[in-house]
Amino acid sequence: DVILAIETSCDETSAAVIRGGKTIMSNVVSSQIDIHERFGGVVPELASRKHVESITLIIEQALEEAEVELKDISAIAVTQGPGLVGALLVGIVAAKSLAMALDIPLIGTHHIAGHIYANELVHDMAYPCMALVVSGGHTELVLLASEGEFRVVGRTRDDAVGEAYDKVARALRLPYPGGPHIDRLAHEAEEAIELPRAWLESESYDFSFSGLKSAVLAVINQTRMKGLELNEAALARGFQESVTEVLVTKAMRAAREYGAKQLLLCGGVAANRGLRSALAARCEAEGLPLLVPPNSLCTDNAAMIGAAAFLKLKREQLTGLDMKADPGFSLESWSVGG
Ligand code: ATP
Ligand code: MG
Ligand code: FE
Repeated sequence: DVILAIETSCDETSAAVIRGGKTIMSNVVSSQIDIHERFGGVVPELASRKHVESITLIIEQALEEAEVELKDISAIAVTQGPGLVGALLVGIVAAKSLAMALDIPLIGTHHIAGHIYANELVHDMAYPCMALVVSGGHTELVLLASEGEFRVVGRTRDDAVGEAYDKVARALRLPYPGGPHIDRLAHEAEEAIELPRAWLESESYDFSFSGLKSAVLAVINQTRMKGLELNEAALARGFQESVTEVLVTKAMRAAREYGAKQLLLCGGVAANRGLRSALAARCEAEGLPLLVPPNSLCTDNAAMIGAAAFLKLKREQLTGLDMKADPGFSLESWSVGG
C-alpha cells in the first residue's frame, strides 16, 4: 500500500508518501514559523491562508521526491483533528478532492495518534505500551493495550508542556517558539532556581503546569521590580527541571502500573534534551525500553499521519467523503476497535 498523507492542523503544511505503513518515501514539511514569529504565536487566519497557498506545491513535491505518480497512490490520509478548524479544512478539502478524483480510500486521521505512531516509522512497537505525548497543545499519558487501541490515563488540567515553555520564553523575551531557546539556556546554566513541582493527588496521572508558569513569572517580575539582574539561564534550568521531574516520574509509574513493554516519547517537546536524557536514564535503570522518534518526526509532519492511517487502512476502516474537520477530536474514539 502506498499512502499519500496530508497534515495541516496548525502551522506546518506537510505531505508525505508512506509505503506499507513503515517506509518513508518522502516527507515534505513547510513551516510557517517566519510568518507567526512576530505575533509571538500562531494566528489562525494567517495559517489557513498560507496552507491554501502551499498545499498543492507541497503535495507535488512529496510525489516527486518519492518518485511516484498519483496513479501509484492507494489511499489518501489526512489529519481530521484536533487542530485549528480553518487550517484542518485546507488539508481535508485537498484530500477529499484527490480521493474522489482517483477513486481511492480516504482516511481521516487523529493528529495525536500520528504523534504516537511516528515511533512505528523508526522502531517496532510492542504492546502493551505507554506513550508520553508532549506537544504544543497536549500533555497526555496514553496506554496502548494493543495496536490502535488508545486509552488516555492522564492529561494536563491546564497548560500543555509546550505551551508553558512558549509562555515562559515569551516572558523572557525569547523568540517564538520558545521551547528550544529555554532548552538551550537550561543547558548553559551553572545553577538552577528552585521552583515548585505540581504532583496533584498521589495516585493521579494528570498534570498541571500553570502554577509553575506563574511561579516563573513571579520570579521574573520580582527581580525586575527590585532592579536586580535576572539569571535567565538558572531560571530556565529550574523550570526545565521541574517539568522534567514530574513528567518522568509519572510516566515511569504509569508504565509500571499498566505493565508496559515500552515507553514512547512523542510530540514536539520530545525534542527537549533535558527530558530525553532524564527519561533515558530512568528507563535504562529500570530496564524499560524507551522509544523516541528523531526530531524531524517529533514535530508536526505528514509521515506520522500516514503511519497512523495505515492502522485503519489495513482493517478497511475507511472514512466517508462527507468527513468533517473535528477541532476537538477524541483520541479514544479513533481507536481501531470502535
Ligand atoms: P499538538 O500536537 O498538541 O496539536 P503542536 O502540533 O502545535 O500541538 P508540536 O508541533 O508537536 O505541537 O510541538 C511544538 C511545541 O514543541 C512548541 O510548544 C515548542 O516550543 C516545543 N518544543 C520544540 N522543541 C523543544 C525543545 N527542545 N524543548 C522544549 N520544547 C520544545
Ligand atoms: Mg507547529
Ligand atoms: Fe502536533
